Amino acid sequence: MHRIVFLGPPGAGKGTQAARLARELGIPHLSTGDLLRAAVAAHTPLGQAADAHIRAGRLVPDDLVLEILEARLREPDARAGFLLDGFPRNLAQAEALARRTPIDVAVAFDLPPDVLVTRLSGRWMCPKCQSTYNVATQPPKEAGRCDRDGTALVQRPDDRPEAVTTRLKVYAEQTAPLLELYRRAGRLRPLDARGSPDEVAVRVRAAVG
Ligand SMILES: [Zn+2]
Repeated sequence: MHRIVFLGPPGAGKGTQAARLARELGIPHLSTGDLLRAAVAAHTPLGQAADAHIRAGRLVPDDLVLEILEARLREPDARAGFLLDGFPRNLAQAEALARRTPIDVAVAFDLPPDVLVTRLSGRWMCPKCQSTYNVATQPPKEAGRCDRDGTALVQRPDDRPEAVTTRLKVYAEQTAPLLELYRRAGRLRPLDARGSPDEVAVRVRAAVG
């Protein structure tokens, strides 16, 4: 069984690595955003309950997210395991998850804060077509302009350097106890997330065994 969670700050490259590893292992790559969207689209009773929260502009409660996740884990493609990307985010969620399924490996992506700030604050987007760019890793052909339609790119308030610093601080505070939980259980695999996606993929593969 490969019951895996990926932990790590925004900007650490979890999503890219999760998609890749899930494909290699033949297990579903599950993020809560995708799970909720799928449940809402399928009009399941749980999906409808989640939709009511989303429409009201509220966060979907953890219990409901976990019920949706649990239902998803009963589907045939999750028989060999699953890869949870970006969940759990805090200790309460991790404890609730543990009551529903064992976790074999928790891979904790680690990157120096200055690298994260550079990566995240380099994100720009096109307000017209929603294309995203990164001045460091994926710059537009003409500086500050969308490749598709030439619109001036903007930065989301969340991606400005001061907001990024706050996001990382919140992440560190909420995640430290979570890492400790998996460490005590002998499931934690710290991962050096510096380098190219190919380099990181080799370390991810070694971490999950
Ligand atoms: Zn555009």
